Amino acid sequence: MLVTDLIRKKRDGLALERNEIEFLVNGYTRDAIPDYQISAWLMAVFLRGMNRAELAALTESMLNSGQVLDFSELPAARVDKHSTGGVGDKTSLVIAPIVAAGGLYVPMISGRGLGHTGGTLDKLESIPGFNVNLPVTDFRRVLTQCGAGLVGQTAEIAPADKQLYALRDVTGTVESPYLICASIMSKKLAEGIDALVLDVKTGSGAFMKSEKDAVFLAELMVETGQRLGKRVAALITDMDQPLGQAVGNALEVAECIDVLNGKGPDDLRELSLVLSAWMFLLGNRVRTLDEGRMLAEEMISSGKGREKFREIIRLQGGNPDVVDDPGLLPQASNKTALKSTGSGFVTGFMCEQIGIAGILLGGGRAKKEDSVDPAVGIVIHKKVGDRVAAGEALCTVHYNSAERMEQASAAILQSYRIEANPAAQTRPLVHRIIGDRN
Ligand code: URA
Repeated sequence: MLVTDLIRKKRDGLALERNEIEFLVNGYTRDAIPDYQISAWLMAVFLRGMNRAELAALTESMLNSGQVLDFSELPAARVDKHSTGGVGDKTSLVIAPIVAAGGLYVPMISGRGLGHTGGTLDKLESIPGFNVNLPVTDFRRVLTQCGAGLVGQTAEIAPADKQLYALRDVTGTVESPYLICASIMSKKLAEGIDALVLDVKTGSGAFMKSEKDAVFLAELMVETGQRLGKRVAALITDMDQPLGQAVGNALEVAECIDVLNGKGPDDLRELSLVLSAWMFLLGNRVRTLDEGRMLAEEMISSGKGREKFREIIRLQGGNPDVVDDPGLLPQASNKTALKSTGSGFVTGFMCEQIGIAGILLGGGRAKKEDSVDPAVGIVIHKKVGDRVAAGEALCTVHYNSAERMEQASAAILQSYRIEANPAAQTRPLVHRIIGDRN
């Protein structure tokens, strides 16, 4: 088989066979095919797209390039949730304990902040001592003992994705929905799960700004997962304003503890319950979504979700006392309120700017090698629909550097849209559902 023939085939808009795709992925991961040929093929995929059989073959080849975990000895279904990323998007820390407390297993391999969005691993690492770098044997032990484990990707999981992602990053091919789908699904399916709930974000704080793009990606991911024998559903959810009130690693952990204590912001609680209900349904723990929701609510009201979070933290080396006293989480040395100059209603956000403000404060990375300040962030007091008077606090900035605070404050204030009248329409939290049992 000649690589040049395969590049030409895709360039001319034809579909590659499964064995041809395997040849490219395996050859690249074994260093038998050079970067420049795979770059040309990636660009051809970017421009021509793929049919669903090609996409499933690509995902499977990437998945099989490394270790595929097998937790089939566990006595209940393994279920995970993946979010395409947003601002203040912290549901994993609420959902993993709820679903594990409700009787399923949640082997969650998560990522770090990407662009303006936060990452589950960075949030967890704000808990003193919490270790996200568990070897597979320890991950298995934690999962078996308490029903959930939250770790980072190891070098053994989907190594083809690591190589292809780095190449996409420098060849203008990151944004292809086909390549995004194969990248995400190859990593998630390596977790040895039976079912997956996808939270595909849309809006000004999401990567997919338009609903049309979000729906297209969701459909690709659902169909690919199903072709590979998994139960998959995708929820298209709103990311036109931050989720909850907290943006920043330790602040977000504290907010998740609030939700597990039956408090916390309505939108975060609601989305966590909806996603948990879907996980219970796809994991065959319940027969209907309503039952799933009731089970999720019960895990909060009984305190079982909170106790499960404490157990996860303890088993992963963190200080479980943060659950009772979030004051033990890192705290910024300064706080300042940002006040509104005008009166009216909050009608919208440039939500990405809030994520960027978090990075400017030091809570995310501007460069790959940057370290993250776990304590800094923003607590938002006024969200879409809220009335605001001149001089009233819109949010509180938690900071450790006055210079960074100045830069971040400018971005936050720019991000708020305040008008005389409330917005005519409010966006729903869940826009639509694609996939299993819909
Ligand atoms: N996240 C991933 O893991 N891969 C992509 O291609 C995009 C987002």
